[in-house]
Amino acid sequence: MSPENTRVAIIGAGPAGLLLAWALRDAGIDSIVVENRSQDYVLARIRAGVLEQSAVETLTRLGLGERLHAEGLEHDGIYLQFAGERRNVDFNELIGRTVTVYGQQEVVKDLITAHTAAGSTIYYEAADVQVLGLESKTPRVTFVHDREAHSIAADFIIGADGFHGVCRASIPPTALTLYDRSYPFAWLGILADVPPSTDELIYALHEDGFAMHSMRSPQVSRLYLQVDTADSIDQWSDERIWEALQTRLAVPGWTLNEGAITDKSITPMRSFVASRLSYGNLFLAGDSGHIVPPTGAKGLNSAIADVTLLGAALVSHYAGDDAPLSGYGETALRRQWRVQQFSQSMTEMLHRDPSDLQSAAFNYRSQLGRLDYLTDSVIAQRELAEQYTGLPF
Ligand SMILES: Cc1cc2nc3c(=O)[nH]c(=O)nc-3n(C[C@H](O)[C@H](O)[C@H](O)COP(=O)(O)OP(=O)(O)OC[C@H]3O[C@@H](n4cnc5c(N)ncnc54)[C@H](O)[C@@H]3O)c2cc1C
Repeated sequence: MSPENTRVAIIGAGPAGLLLAWALRDAGIDSIVVENRSQDYVLARIRAGVLEQSAVETLTRLGLGERLHAEGLEHDGIYLQFAGERRNVDFNELIGRTVTVYGQQEVVKDLITAHTAAGSTIYYEAADVQVLGLESKTPRVTFVHDREAHSIAADFIIGADGFHGVCRASIPPTALTLYDRSYPFAWLGILADVPPSTDELIYALHEDGFAMHSMRSPQVSRLYLQVDTADSIDQWSDERIWEALQTRLAVPGWTLNEGAITDKSITPMRSFVASRLSYGNLFLAGDSGHIVPPTGAKGLNSAIADVTLLGAALVSHYAGDDAPLSGYGETALRRQWRVQQFSQSMTEMLHRDPSDLQSAAFNYRSQLGRLDYLTDSVIAQRELAEQYTGLPF
């Protein structure tokens, strides 16, 4: 057994855990990160791709902006497409804010590069991770690494271990309520080696279901299709995927370029919020405390917002002011519920609901009415712009 000490023990080397460790290091507070997967696995995970302006500002402030500013694609707005027509919503013109397209795996790569150069302690491939003594003054993390048992004593434990992690599960069930909702559809996402056919993201509602055209770089496109929750990826050949995308994204005079598909997967759509983000000396951040359907591009951004708040609260704690840390859960959840309603309303506006066939024709026309109003009203567009580019932390 190797006993170790640190001020903050962070479980999970996803964007939330790595960014918090980096923010704490920047403030001179030591931490140790414990991750159960390999570094290669963490680096290869393809997920979110849109950064809110505040997220870009946070990463830049922490010295992580060099590649982000060189390679990220700053977008002034998005396109909303419905009834065969594509309309632009220009956030920059509406409220003077933008978003940046930069893959989550690039954010993680920048963080791991920075941590490696700084000599941060990150245990990858940690097995049997457990968090103990959460209500005591010295909670502990135990795990096995390289066949050696480890025990880390810390002032605080941070659960940045995603939806399936151990931290939230370590809170007694009687102390926690889980609010959740599953959607009756899923997203099939592809990465394709083809330059994007659009300058900004296209969100499309079609009679066959939702489709989206996003991108990762000037050479790589990212596209999504609404599919059935029971579908398996084997049912979706590359030809079938392109055919569906061509149908759902079509507008007169525009061509969707096709290319080799290098990655494809199906993700369920879920909304979930835990009733508390702290228990004793355990604090939850990112997907361990909440999940959104990806339609509003809020998953990664919420994780960054949480750790920005939590990092500042921990810095205040060590400077003698406990109020921000005591209030972290309430502040983060208040922001999160605003994000939840936005993600839910974007999802409901843009997907066809296969579970309500009786009202399907009415619902579809009502969705078209909503999109028509939204793209015609400056007031409605400003609301969308404010929420899409990111609420204040
Ligand atoms: C397939 C998929 C696609 C997505 N696409 C989008 C998108 O297009 N847009 C969007 O906004 N959001 C998307 N999201 C959501 C977004 O990626 C997440 O919100 C974001 O990753 C949250 O970061 P996190 O650090 O909180 O959690 P995670 O990224 O999940 O990181 C948690 C880390 O903890 C580790 N861990 C788990 N259990 C343990 C344990 N017991 N011990 C130690 N470590 C552990 C995990 O291996 C992982 O490295 C997607 C999510 C998924 C799953």
